[in-house]
Amino acid sequence: MRIDEVSGNTALNNYVLVVFDSCRYDSFVSARPRTMKKLGRLERRWSYASWTAPSHFNLLMGLMPHTSPKHIYASEYYKKEFLRFNERLGGKDMKFASLVPQLYLPPFLKDSLGYATHARVSLPVLNPKTPINLGFDSFRLMDRHNDMRAMVRQMHFSEERPSFWVLNVGETHYPYALPDEPQDEWPRIHGVHGVFKHLDAHIVGGKVKKERFFNQAKMEELRQRQIAAVKYLDAVIEELFDLVPKNTYITITSDHGELFGEDGYFGHGPIQHPKVLEVPFVEGKLR
Ligand SMILES: [Zn+2]
Repeated sequence: MRIDEVSGNTALNNYVLVVFDSCRYDSFVSARPRTMKKLGRLERRWSYASWTAPSHFNLLMGLMPHTSPKHIYASEYYKKEFLRFNERLGGKDMKFASLVPQLYLPPFLKDSLGYATHARVSLPVLNPKTPINLGFDSFRLMDRHNDMRAMVRQMHFSEERPSFWVLNVGETHYPYALPDEPQDEWPRIHGVHGVFKHLDAHIVGGKVKKERFFNQAKMEELRQRQIAAVKYLDAVIEELFDLVPKNTYITITSDHGELFGEDGYFGHGPIQHPKVLEVPFVEGKLR
């Protein structure tokens, strides 16, 4: 398929997908981000998965966090949602069938639409050796898990071809630390410290044992830290907005929510609770 067959000869948008890792919907609302809201109406949506890897895989299939409509078949919902990519990419007549058989956005954007495709990720579970890295021109695990500004500084846009960027942002992930906070001042929850030291040990989540570890004041402190991280990121997003060319469409969302002590749970992952799926969703074109 040629580019002009899909785009109807119009210039395609750059597309930037920003994923605040672990940011639950109400943390985003409490942060009252002014810059990000310029994109459009903030929606409460639901992630298809409760932790990072399956959720990003889903996002890169082109399935954004879902609304929860009644009386509609899943297949109809997918088709309808995918049509939104016509708006995001500035194309025409792009249907879910365009993705068949790979069902994966990066190779479709790159090979069928001529996009330059880039990923910058914070969480080791998404490292470039994983199968998530398919169809990307560049895919990097950042040196630090919590520095979106460093990602923005690596972003570039070509005049010859549209660009797709996906940013997995870690400031909103436990321990909700901003880049200038010394590591020895990060909060510690029993049993989940040292989460970023090893590739296989960064997953945070589970039932907190009330009698020994549960401490609601600590949980509230962590929740406030996630809210503060969103406030901070609003300023970094402003730098992103200043950087992107005019024809850029941006989606900001999360891969899953987070539990801060509700019903005895902390974190995300092996948790069955509505709050682990509630995520913010806002998107649009700036100008
Ligand atoms: Zn995650």
